[in-house]
Amino acid sequence: MSAAPINEPTFRESVDLMFNRAVALMDLSPGLEEKIRVCNATYTVRFGVRLRGKIQTFTGYRSVHSEHMEPVKGGIRYSMAVNQDEVEALAALMTYKCALVEAPFGGSKGGLCIDPREYDEHELELITRRFAYELAKRDLIHPSQNVPAPDMGTGEREMAWIADQYRRMNTTDINAAACVTGKPINAGGIQGRTEATGRGVQYALQEFFRHPEDVKAAGLSGKLDGKRVIVQGLGNVGYHAAKFLQEEDGCVITGIIERDGALYNDSGIDVESVRGWIVKHGGVTGYPEASHVKDGGSVLEKPCDILIPAALEGVINLANAKRIEAPLIIEAANGPITAGADEILREKGTVIIPDMYANAGGVTVSYFEWVKNLSHIRFGRMQRRQEETRHQLVVDELERLSADKGLGWQLSPGFKEKYLKGAGELELVRSGLDDTMRAAYQSMREIWHSREDVTDLRTAAYLVAIGKVAQSYRAKGL
Ligand code: GLU
Repeated sequence: MSAAPINEPTFRESVDLMFNRAVALMDLSPGLEEKIRVCNATYTVRFGVRLRGKIQTFTGYRSVHSEHMEPVKGGIRYSMAVNQDEVEALAALMTYKCALVEAPFGGSKGGLCIDPREYDEHELELITRRFAYELAKRDLIHPSQNVPAPDMGTGEREMAWIADQYRRMNTTDINAAACVTGKPINAGGIQGRTEATGRGVQYALQEFFRHPEDVKAAGLSGKLDGKRVIVQGLGNVGYHAAKFLQEEDGCVITGIIERDGALYNDSGIDVESVRGWIVKHGGVTGYPEASHVKDGGSVLEKPCDILIPAALEGVINLANAKRIEAPLIIEAANGPITAGADEILREKGTVIIPDMYANAGGVTVSYFEWVKNLSHIRFGRMQRRQEETRHQLVVDELERLSADKGLGWQLSPGFKEKYLKGAGELELVRSGLDDTMRAAYQSMREIWHSREDVTDLRTAAYLVAIGKVAQSYRAKGL
């Protein structure tokens, strides 16, 4: 996968450029504009861990972009590409993302410069706990001040270590579990968090296709069903998005781009089986039911209806933007399109569903998890399994009575299904996420369609988000 060429602005500059485009259409005082744009603080830590007989030094960051609301929120990324510029850009995007979907948080992001594949589980635990210790002792992990979550290269396992480390350092904190989200279910997590970002991408597309006018703006027609999709990155976000779109919305996944090349098949590729192949073989190479394209990046340029970059930032840049054929791009990753590429694509009429909206599903469900942890009560119906059994018994009994007494009476299948299902945690999380994605889309599209000077969804998203952050600052008297 190609990164942005060097003649392009950095990731953070790219985010600032997009911010500036939007803010130029707003009536904010210059002081407030600057206050919102800049990153409040970035903490850099270098710590040593004794591994394989010698001390290895690691560099990590936690950046706080805006504290207009607290705690601040955002993931921790493990990757060799992590640097200060990147975490600051990602922290800024967290501020705007949370504002747009009304998750009551400021923006933050963290990163550790490490290739997690180089270490075994025990080593990763030592490294993660040490990093968590360094951050927690400066309140950069704290239930009411700074709440990390998974991001690229981390998952629920790392979050469980972080939560445990915080708990050890704060044994009397009854809210300790809320110091981090994305935890495993049995360690204070919430159902539906792992799939949440991919699920949010699906809900975003479903909402987009509910508006024929918007679909037309992208030069497409009809429903989501049958749309041809290329996805870049089959990690947590790309995998869930592609899987749900394929299994539930009838999309045809024609291309999958991974680290070691891409798979392409005009008649569709089975996402689940590719994921299984990657887990087993470490990449897509050799997967039998699609052709393998060595230069994976070139598949971004193949014709399709929807392109889903779900991996790195800057993959659509000045070098390839002109050749991108997809009329609709949904940014499942953060910052996959550089500011320069964004301009080229806008001129071409490509519709871009921007990252700050498209991948907000993760932080939305993180918010549910955080609230669940702080409230100390279970989310959704209690004792799901017992309830389910009881409901099944009721249904069985009613049907038996009807048959025994020859009443010819039947429960309608729809009612039966709902009755048996009830509303458990997962259903509540999914419907809360769906509502959030719908409402946030409406707020962007209203501006997109009502203002002549706003011609794209990204600018509309920034306008909504910056407006909300500005309101908070004003309310605070800043
Ligand atoms: N890392 C995710 C993101 O970029 C999730 C953040 C969170 O849940 O706090 O949005």
